[in-house]
Amino acid sequence: MIIAIDGPAASGKSVTAKDVAKKLKYIHINTGSMYRAVTLYFLEKKVNLDNGTIFKKELKKLKINFNFKNEIFINDIDVSNKLRQDSVNNNVSKVSAVKVVRDNLVALQRNIALDNNVVMEGRDIGTTVFPNADFKFYLTADIEVRAKRRLIENQKSENDIQSMIDQIKKRDNLDKKRKHSPLVVADGAIIIDTTNMKIADQVEKIVNIIKRKDKYTNE
Ligand code: C5P
Repeated sequence: MIIAIDGPAASGKSVTAKDVAKKLKYIHINTGSMYRAVTLYFLEKKVNLDNGTIFKKELKKLKINFNFKNEIFINDIDVSNKLRQDSVNNNVSKVSAVKVVRDNLVALQRNIALDNNVVMEGRDIGTTVFPNADFKFYLTADIEVRAKRRLIENQKSENDIQSMIDQIKKRDNLDKKRKHSPLVVADGAIIIDTTNMKIADQVEKIVNIIKRKDKYTNE
């Protein structure tokens, strides 16, 4: 069974996907972390991020592993704690727009689902990675609410709200306007606006939809 959850930055995908997976006893896969890991690696290796044509060669030197706790390893080193830093936030959309990066990571993502029931979250899960996913959800929320959530998560002051809004908007725009696998609502996706919802309610809504549909199709 494949559950796809897509949506813009800070729309609540990760926490929702994690809890839905826990309730269903599925594996939670955060694909954003994979794009962040590649970006971190390129930044640390001082790869010129404006020259996508050299990415293919650089990617050959990179081995990404992860475990089902969503810890990510680059060439066997755990980088999970470095993936949310500003330099990664500011460059990840540029790196993830490049086709060879996407091709590599999409192959990895499809492989995981061969042997597992998964809740996979990202930007293109319902459109590109698994267009035939059993269930597709698209999470969204007002930009201010998303920015506030991210500030709380990063333990930053409310005074930083405008710069957080700007950062999120910029990333969303790049993700929506890119040529390869842009962020769009997938065909058949159920849209959930989480602006006024609590995490537990988002999770319950999704789990109920899955259980209800399963019940009907099994009858
Ligand atoms: O989900 P998260 O905000 O961690 O994703 C970071 C970035 O990775 C996104 O802004 C997007 O550029 C990229 N991404 C992507 N495709 C995915 C998941 C993430 O392009 N499936």
